[in-house]
Amino acid sequence: MSWELDQVHQDFQASARAFVDRQVRPLVESAEEAGSFPAELWKQLGSAGLLGLITPEAHGGADGDGLAVALLAEELARASGGIAVTALVSAYMAAPHVIRHGTPAQQDRWLAPLAAGEAVAAIAVTEPGTGSDVARVGTTARRTEDGWLLNGRKMFITNAGLADLIIVAARTGDAGRGGLTLFLVGRGTDGLSLGRPLAKMGWHSSDTREVLLDDVALPADAVLGTENRGFYQIMEAFQLERVALAAMGIGHAAECLDLAREYAGQREAFGEPLTHLQTIRHRLAAMEVELEAARLITYQAAARLDAGHPEAARSVARAKYLAAISANRIVDDAVQLFGGAGFVEESPVARHYRDVRILRIGGGTDEIQLEILTRGMA
Ligand SMILES: Cc1cc2nc3c(=O)[nH]c(=O)nc-3n(C[C@H](O)[C@H](O)[C@H](O)COP(=O)(O)OP(=O)(O)OC[C@H]3O[C@@H](n4cnc5c(N)ncnc54)[C@H](O)[C@@H]3O)c2cc1C
Repeated sequence: MSWELDQVHQDFQASARAFVDRQVRPLVESAEEAGSFPAELWKQLGSAGLLGLITPEAHGGADGDGLAVALLAEELARASGGIAVTALVSAYMAAPHVIRHGTPAQQDRWLAPLAAGEAVAAIAVTEPGTGSDVARVGTTARRTEDGWLLNGRKMFITNAGLADLIIVAARTGDAGRGGLTLFLVGRGTDGLSLGRPLAKMGWHSSDTREVLLDDVALPADAVLGTENRGFYQIMEAFQLERVALAAMGIGHAAECLDLAREYAGQREAFGEPLTHLQTIRHRLAAMEVELEAARLITYQAAARLDAGHPEAARSVARAKYLAAISANRIVDDAVQLFGGAGFVEESPVARHYRDVRILRIGGGTDEIQLEILTRGMA
């Protein structure tokens, strides 16, 4: 048993960190102000191999693992939640559906461009009327002579305004889990329209919108995976998605702990640095303990997912729950330690505070993770 990252993952972590420091950090403030993802980053991320970590080599990827995705998510979120989620949704929340279930033709069409940052993907499951309860998706896909006709509305769709490809969950069968199918919908398809970007509490540089499907006609080969197995495909993809979101929490928390330590060493109160106050030193130590626990449980979940461990889904639910809550607590403590300076909009800890909150909601709320862990209880 090893509690350390192996050399391959340590090297990857160092290179991801160097990429983020060099290519991402300088763009964060302007992306926040513009409220958009810096377009030039797509190809840079792609060239660095950071969008194809789990894409098969035959399609331009590294054929790597979920632990690497977690490490990348952590490094990206240290710099910016909005930039992190934009890249992660395309490469590790939407693209995996095509990696796992795409036909050879669908894979040839999408995987290499997505890994290269030449195309962007989104995954559209949530609707105005249902989020946590995926089995209640109401968007319909009706069979036509030569394909399908989709009608419905999707809500809170990350990357909708940037996406060349939107993977849409729609009902093709009976009510409930056994009646959903995933469809590939390309940008510009007739009947597909987008709402305005939603103004959000955080993730300012990410694009989140409503997606409207009004008689969207699709060919028969737009089905992704197996008809009426969409619910299960979504649940399968949620595993890596939740690991990535948990790891984003680790990134926000780690960054804020570093910032808080630095600030506490410099800021004076009552004639001495904050670090001379035992209560402050203890708070910083407690933040470290909580961060390390969340990090270990997240890496364990990633490693178990990669290994196909029978407890993987439980590990993922535990990690998503703990990391999201711990990260929120740690980031909140950092704001407290910064005092008034932590409440000013442009302070980095204020940005992390805004960004970290969604991690307790997106990709399955805290409560849904607890539901997963209590399944089967009498
Ligand atoms: C910024 C942002 C980006 C997003 N990106 C995407 C995306 O790209 N694609 C996509 O499909 N969706 C996306 N979502 C949607 C997100 O996944 C949902 O918001 C989330 O799953 C919760 O669903 P809901 O908002 O409908 O809340 P609801 O399901 O209505 O839940 C409301 C509250 O009730 C609680 N609750 C629900 N069921 C139970 C239960 N059984 N037991 C106890 N408590 C329960 C929830 O935990 C929550 O606290 C995004 C959301 C946001 C805000």
